[in-house]
Amino acid sequence: MDILVVLESKNGSLHRMSREAIVGAQSIAAENGLSISALAIGIDTDQIASSVSGMNLDEVLVANHNLLSTYSADGFAECVKQVIEKENPSLVFVGHTYQTRDYFPKVSARIDKPFIPDVVSLMKEGDFFVFTKTVYNGKLGSKVVSNDSECTLISFQAAAFSEENIESGSASTRSFDIELESSQVRTSSEAPIQEEVSGIDLSSADLIVSVGRGIEKENNLQIVKDLASAINGELASSRPVVDAGWLPSSHQVGSSGQSVSPNLYIALGISGAIQHVVGMKGSKNIIAINKDADAPIFEIADYGVVGNILEIVPKLTEAING
Ligand SMILES: Cc1cc2nc3c(=O)[nH]c(=O)nc-3n(C[C@H](O)[C@H](O)[C@H](O)COP(=O)(O)OP(=O)(O)OC[C@H]3O[C@@H](n4cnc5c(N)ncnc54)[C@H](O)[C@@H]3O)c2cc1C
Repeated sequence: MDILVVLESKNGSLHRMSREAIVGAQSIAAENGLSISALAIGIDTDQIASSVSGMNLDEVLVANHNLLSTYSADGFAECVKQVIEKENPSLVFVGHTYQTRDYFPKVSARIDKPFIPDVVSLMKEGDFFVFTKTVYNGKLGSKVVSNDSECTLISFQAAAFSEENIESGSASTRSFDIELESSQVRTSSEAPIQEEVSGIDLSSADLIVSVGRGIEKENNLQIVKDLASAINGELASSRPVVDAGWLPSSHQVGSSGQSVSPNLYIALGISGAIQHVVGMKGSKNIIAINKDADAPIFEIADYGVVGNILEIVPKLTEAING
């Protein structure tokens, strides 16, 4: 086995960042002649395994065990450790989610192999795979090479790869027997936090109008809502707007909010902090309006307008409504 992609379940469905990690694996597998296996962990992994069986993977390993029915860092770390020790992958890929942030350092420590987290891209240079991480609040890219030729663990930042680029194929399924005693699982998790039911699904939205602290006060939000409704888009925001209590947390985009990849993301009065950008940089087209010409959001925007949103947004809505 060359590349192992460890899959994550989100409410019984495959986590979007697991699909992105598979794209990362596929992006280097073919040209380097590497095989890709995926690992589904849990008690009832049929749904996860079947959701990847139509992808271009060599096989799907299924690790079922009643002690893995709910997430625990001990149980999941032990499971991944046993698979790595038996199957000897040289690269292990996951999405950089809250769950993998919790247990992948434990896997790394248990097998004494390096873990390079939060990677945004990878490429082959000579004999080495080079992984890029962003540093200094996303301003610079730092290239990292593993010093271990046997096995390296990698987690990918949200939107490092586009799930739309998944190659389809046909993967066989194989059971992997995990040896796990209850004494090895020292913690138990409570039920996952239920996100507020809001009727909005930002992750599948096609058009998003997103508002940041530049809106200045709650009363001004109406102009952004009007624009969203004029283009039939969803309303989203940066964190300060949620922290101020102006919008529910389900509207927040970013590292502690939702990850989105609409066709169009309109960022209004949003500076472009890395914690926001990781949640929306997968958008196909980004329009930013900001009164600061040096705002970092302009670095990733396809179209940028330097100006006051309080003046521009009502005029834009008026023009759209005809
Ligand atoms: C652990 C952690 C997790 C985080 N998670 C998230 C997250 O999930 N999502 C998130 O968004 N942030 C998150 N943050 C916060 C993040 O670091 C930034 O503070 C936040 O994204 C900034 O939001 P903003 O761009 O709306 O506000 P600011 O950074 O204050 O930017 C406001 C922008 O509006 C512009 N502006 C002001 N007035 C106007 C006007 N009238 N017209 C036009 N432009 C105007 C300004 O020039 C400025 O660029 C997190 C931080 C931490 C530490």
